[in-house]
Amino acid sequence: MATTTKKPTKPTATKSKTTVAFAKKVPAKKDAAKELKDLFEDGLKDIYWAEKALTKALPKMQKNATDTKLKAAIGAHLAETINHVKRLEDCFAALGKKAQAKKCDAMQGLLDEGKSIMEETKPGPVRDAGIIAASQKVEHYEIATYGTLAAFAKVLNQNKCLKELLKTLQEEKNCDELLTSIADTALNTKAMN
Ligand code: FE
Ligand code: FE
Repeated sequence: MATTTKKPTKPTATKSKTTVAFAKKVPAKKDAAKELKDLFEDGLKDIYWAEKALTKALPKMQKNATDTKLKAAIGAHLAETINHVKRLEDCFAALGKKAQAKKCDAMQGLLDEGKSIMEETKPGPVRDAGIIAASQKVEHYEIATYGTLAAFAKVLNQNKCLKELLKTLQEEKNCDELLTSIADTALNTKAMN
């Protein structure tokens, strides 16, 4: 006797409601960068602001963390971050410029998100997991920024800057990896229970 096989039902695809907006060219401001050197300097000002903001934000993250490894990692990266500020000042000096900070909206957004993650989590493993998540977003932003600035420094033949930027880039990468290992080894499983 032949068995009747049930016809597989076709999955019903839901239509995407996303529409593509009409794109327009962005008009440049009066003081817009013309040369790569200007864009490089603007980028330095941005990350200088961001690093300074981090020297204030990291102690708060450390205070709110519970896990001892996490607290130690944030403390160690705070010490490195103070050095990142100094290295950027050395970059400005190498360019013959005064160190100048320009508000970095992206970092402000990441720090605001970090603050709300802490408000939305109870202290302990769950808040720790949130602090790691927020911190890694910050580190990834820094990695992207320093990677770009180092590439600019290279084509601009700014070797002193390149050296300093690459040192910081490596420390940001190390910090990101350390956070991943802290999350992997203990925290995320604890946060599950
Ligand atoms: Fe940094
Ligand atoms: Fe960092």
